[in-house]
Amino acid sequence: MSDKKQNNRKNRNNMDDDFNPKFRKVRKKVCPLCSNKDLVLDFKNAEQLKKFVSDKGKILPRRATGACAKHQRDITLAVKRARHIAVLPFIQN
Ligand SMILES: [Zn+2]
Repeated sequence: MSDKKQNNRKNRNNMDDDFNPKFRKVRKKVCPLCSNKDLVLDFKNAEQLKKFVSDKGKILPRRATGACAKHQRDITLAVKRARHIAVLPFIQN
C-alpha cells in the first residue's frame, strides 16, 4: 500500500521535471511602447491599434500585448477613442 503511494509520488515528480506549467520558462515581454520611444499611440491610426485588439475587435489583455500598466491604459484609451470615431470596430462577427 505504502509502496504504491511512493511510486505514484515518484512518477508525478518525474512529470514535474519534464513540464510543469507553474515553472514554465517564460520570456518576460518588454512593453512595446517603452522599448520603442518613437512609437506614439494615435487613435486615428487604425493599423497601429490593430496590433492591440483581437480578431474579434476586443482589446487584448496586458499578458498578450506585453505592455506596462501605464501604456496599457494608453492603449485602451486610444482603442476606445478609435472606436468612437469609427476607425476601429466595436465588434467583428
Ligand atoms: Zn510601457
